Amino acid sequence: MSTLATSEFVPADIDCSKWENIEPFFRELRDRAVTSAEAFERWLLDRSELDATAGEAAAVRYIAMTCDTASDEKKQAYLSFVENIIPKMTPADFELNKKQAELAKRFDLGDRYFVINRDTISAVELFREENVPLQTELTKLDSDYDTICGAMTVEFDGEEKTLPQMGTYQESGDRSVREEAWKRVAERRAQDAEKISDIFDKQVVLRDRLGKNAGFDSFVGYAFKAKGRFDYTPEHCFAFHAGIEEHVMPFVARLDAKRQKELGVESLRPWDLAVDPKGGAPLKPFVDGADLVAKTGRAFDRLSPELGEMFGSMGDGTNTNGAENGASLDLDSRKGKAPGGYQYMRDRSRKAFIFMNAAGLHRDVETMVHEAGHAFHSMYCTDEPLVHYRSAPIEFCEVASMSMELLTMPMWDEYYPEPADANRARRKQMEGSIGLLPWIATIDSFQHWIYTNPSHSQDDRAAKWLEIEDRFGHMGHRVDWSGIERFRPLVWQRQGHLFGAPFYYVEYGIAQLGALGLWLMSLERGVPAALDAYKRAMSLGGSKPLPALFEAAGLPFDFGPDTVGRLVERVESELDKLPE
Ligand SMILES: [Zn+2]
Repeated sequence: MSTLATSEFVPADIDCSKWENIEPFFRELRDRAVTSAEAFERWLLDRSELDATAGEAAAVRYIAMTCDTASDEKKQAYLSFVENIIPKMTPADFELNKKQAELAKRFDLGDRYFVINRDTISAVELFREENVPLQTELTKLDSDYDTICGAMTVEFDGEEKTLPQMGTYQESGDRSVREEAWKRVAERRAQDAEKISDIFDKQVVLRDRLGKNAGFDSFVGYAFKAKGRFDYTPEHCFAFHAGIEEHVMPFVARLDAKRQKELGVESLRPWDLAVDPKGGAPLKPFVDGADLVAKTGRAFDRLSPELGEMFGSMGDGTNTNGAENGASLDLDSRKGKAPGGYQYMRDRSRKAFIFMNAAGLHRDVETMVHEAGHAFHSMYCTDEPLVHYRSAPIEFCEVASMSMELLTMPMWDEYYPEPADANRARRKQMEGSIGLLPWIATIDSFQHWIYTNPSHSQDDRAAKWLEIEDRFGHMGHRVDWSGIERFRPLVWQRQGHLFGAPFYYVEYGIAQLGALGLWLMSLERGVPAALDAYKRAMSLGGSKPLPALFEAAGLPFDFGPDTVGRLVERVESELDKLPE
């Protein structure tokens, strides 16, 4: 039993692979007579421990599977949890939500419980029995999209390549290789464009019905409530878009003019955006996971001994047994490992876990410090008794991670002893932190239009996409599409969030402004001041509303044009200070 547990309600050694083992705890909570505020508080703690236990059961199975995809046993253990336990847990959870919402109205536990009550009451209000099958249908359509995209390969360099593998050719110094690779991928995607459009058409209709069933005019209001966006509205998002158009577009245009000149090309084509314009070879920051951990550990030690110690507590990166043996890191790319990277908190034991596929590239350094930021966030609130408060809204979780990408920059000499290499990496980081915003605005405006105009045709949609792209460029860049115009209206089909996680995207933009704010605080008031603010805010977990979390970090909760403009100007002046 963890010494941190605040409830002994669920035994630590419970076997969560059988519903009959878990079900009695749900039943007990459902049937328990709660007759006082103290009893309600106890009920909340007990429920929290049940949620944490179930959450950790899912986490360890997921971690084990992704670390060893060749093991049928591990895959079955995870799938069995998803297919047999979760469908039974969801309605049982909803019963508890209803009870909790009623209890919250009966017993006033004070401000501390404001967020958890608001979230629970809102989940109950949003629930409609008739929406359950629609959600299932939407999930199936999303997995159809994943299947179509996952099966896409092209013949290149005499080999069959996946589209993620094709991405590396965009960094080739040979322009004709980049062009050929880009076109091959665009053609492959175009082959399935109709199928993907049909999937999306069905999803738009289903989502519109989801919203209307729950009493909203459209899916927009439903999505905002379902995502817990209590503190901002579509109008705030529109103001964000306007700020990006006004301030970020000219910034990217200045960078692009320089890129065009350095590359010595007449116009920028879509395949000219990822290559190093100075013709440098790819950076080589580390050799393997253990080396990455050693260097990152030294970087964090220099940033702050406290963060260095927290990072060190996760291990040295040599344990590659996934979650087994209490390991907290599994970093090296190897056969039999799922793609991607993530940080997953094991809620009951309160131990963070970082998974990634490090291959010795600079983007692995970014992933490492990013996921470490998520782990710090979790570690700073491990003492919080309620699991609901041990995680924050995404708009703030990404502040924890993205700010580490920026705050560690002065220590990147750990990876790059050559100052020219370190500065090249820093330049890329700073440019990228702002350069990401137009694409966020593109995807966000597109979705607002899609779901406020759900009866649009595929032609209307293509026209709208081109109009938005005219405004925000191709990921911010004004590129020359001559001869390849037919691919332009299809670009949105690459963004998986549109299919699997509607409206999930603007969060990254809001968080990026927060991360930039913390970084600028470190430059203006010193690193310790910024790290104090970081700790103060991250220790709150999700116990306060979003604006209060920003406030605790000394940041405005404001993503309007003025904030965007101020940050762009500051980043540009920092970029000017970097030696070329
Ligand atoms: Zn993240």
